[in-house]
Amino acid sequence: MMRLSRTTKVVVLTGAGISAESGIRTFRESGGLWENHKVEDVATWSGFEKDPALVWKFYRQRWEDSNSTKPNAAHYALVEMEHYYAQHFSLVTQNVDGLHSAAGSKNPLEMHGNLNSCFCTTCRAKFKLHDTDPDIAIPLCPKCGAYLRPDIVWFGEIPYFLSEIEHSLKKCDVFIIIGTSGLVYPAAGFVMTAKLMGAKTIAINLEAPDNLSFIDEFHQGKSGEVLPALVKEWTAP
Ligand SMILES: [Zn+2]
Repeated sequence: MMRLSRTTKVVVLTGAGISAESGIRTFRESGGLWENHKVEDVATWSGFEKDPALVWKFYRQRWEDSNSTKPNAAHYALVEMEHYYAQHFSLVTQNVDGLHSAAGSKNPLEMHGNLNSCFCTTCRAKFKLHDTDPDIAIPLCPKCGAYLRPDIVWFGEIPYFLSEIEHSLKKCDVFIIIGTSGLVYPAAGFVMTAKLMGAKTIAINLEAPDNLSFIDEFHQGKSGEVLPALVKEWTAP
């Protein structure tokens, strides 16, 4: 079993699986429907243009759902890793529920946005959803009056932090993916980048990821059970 020193450069990518263990549902579980909505109606710009009130109702509900969930043992194990590896540690997440921050992670790179964030469709100013009036169907920009939209990266939009992520993948020693099937690009490509640049790659997931040929070490199981044990080994004195 591997022991990692404090100066090992570690990048972690988390996906829907780690949130699912806290009770957050994902659209993949329900055959392409998301709480009975088609993905193109609630997760694209054209869906928002067609019916912004419906899209806001959907995301406000998801935000409320995420507020009633709690981080699990895997989220807390990642906070421990952040303390141990300090500036050598980067956490990237595909999740928008804010559970990493709720657990205490300092600076998760939320590549698909965050449910508690929104921005103006005209002047781009950013706001927190908890500062908007929940009784207004489509929140308006306090600065210019235009519609606010959820700060979520929708299909057809470019994920955040791609250049920072690419940079840290190129210089990391270990890349760990947790709770992601490996199906969704660009995240799926991160594994290849890290591997080709010489990093050791580790996956923790309920099922074997699709890009298993790029994974050096695969741990099958719940991340809330597998990860805390691994962190103990990696950081053992
Ligand atoms: Zn504005």
